[in-house]
Amino acid sequence: MKIQSLARHDILCLKPYQSARKLARSSAGHLWLNANEFPIAPNYYSLNQEKIHRYPMCQPQEIIHKYACYAGIQSKQILVSRGADESIELLMKVFCNPTKDTIIFCPPTYGMYKTTADILGIKYKIIPKKKHWQIDLAHIKSQLNNVKLIYICNPNNPTGNLIHLNSLKKLLKITKNKALLIIDEAYIDFCINSSLASWLSAYSNLVILRTLSKAFALAGLRCGFTLANPEIINLLKKVIAPYPISTPVIDIVTQALTPESIKYTHERINTINKNRNILIAALKQCTCVQKVFISYANYVLVKFNPKYKVFKKLLKKGIILRDQSYQPGLNNCVRITVGTYNECHYLISILKKII
Ligand SMILES: *Cc1c(COP(=O)(O)O)cnc(C)c1O
Repeated sequence: MKIQSLARHDILCLKPYQSARKLARSSAGHLWLNANEFPIAPNYYSLNQEKIHRYPMCQPQEIIHKYACYAGIQSKQILVSRGADESIELLMKVFCNPTKDTIIFCPPTYGMYKTTADILGIKYKIIPKKKHWQIDLAHIKSQLNNVKLIYICNPNNPTGNLIHLNSLKKLLKITKNKALLIIDEAYIDFCINSSLASWLSAYSNLVILRTLSKAFALAGLRCGFTLANPEIINLLKKVIAPYPISTPVIDIVTQALTPESIKYTHERINTINKNRNILIAALKQCTCVQKVFISYANYVLVKFNPKYKVFKKLLKKGIILRDQSYQPGLNNCVRITVGTYNECHYLISILKKII
C-alpha cells in the first residue's frame, strides 16, 4: 500500500506508547492494579445541558481559580489541559525546535516524555538515575548543550521515590536561563508537602505538572494542570487547542474542586496511603517477593523472585499488574497500584500461596 510511503519515516518506525489500558485490553481481568487509577468512582454529579450547543472557554476561569486555591498559587500561574500528558507535549511544541533542540529525562521513569519527543521529532538525552533512583546531577550538568527541557517525575513513576529537594534546588540553579525544569507531580497529592509549588515565584524556569487522574479519581475525565510563571503559561496558551476542555469536563471539574469535594479527596488519599503501608508490610512477608521499594504514591514497585513467574500467574487469575522489566535496572520488577483494603488483602492472599 502506497499510503505507507506517504507517512513520516520516523512515525513508521515509532513504537507507540504502551498504555496500561492498551496492554491489558484483551485480558479478562477482574482486579485492575495496573494504571495507578483510584479504585472507586466518586459521585459526580450534574451536567449543565443549557451550554452544550456553545463552544467552551479555552481556559475556564472557574476551574483555574479553584485549582489555584488548591495549589496555593495564583490563577495566572496555571494552564488547564487535556490531562498532564497534553502539557508534556505543549511544552515541547513551545520550546523545542524539531531535530535541533534536546530534552533530558532520567529512566527508569514515565514513558510519555520519550514517546512525545519521538512523535514531535525532538532529540533527547537519556541520563539514567543513580543509586536509590536519585538524579545524576553531575551527569546532567555535563550534558546541557542544546537542552531546553528536563523532565523529572516526582514522586517517580514507577519507582515511587522522591527526589531530594536539595538536588532539585541545585538543578534549578544549574539550569537557570538555559533550560526549563519540569517536575511531573502527577502523584504529589499523596505527599503534598513535597510539592515544589511554593518555589514557583523564586525560580522562573520551574514548571510543575499536575493531574486529576490519580488522587482525584478522575482518570476518565482527562484533566491536568501546568503550574509555572505567567510568561511560560502565556506561551503555552499560544499553542494549546482552542477548545481543549469539553463542557461536561468543566462541569465535573468545577464540582470536584469545591472545598467539600477536596475534603473527600483528602480522605481518599489518607485511605490509599494507609492501604499502601499495609500492602508494603504484607508484601515483605511473601516468599516470592525479593524486595519492596519505598513509595510516596499510590503504587508500589516490587521485585519478585523470577523463579515464581508471579506476573504471569496473577494474570491467569485475572489480577492485572504493570510489568516494569523493560526499564533499565528494573529486571523482575512489577508495579502494583494500591487498591481498596479488600483488593490489597485479596492480592496478598494469592501471593502468599505462591511458594
Ligand atoms: C498518569 C501520569 C501522567 C498523565 O496524567 P494525565 O493527566 O492522565 O494525562 C503524567 N505523568 C505521570 C508520571 C503519570 O503517571
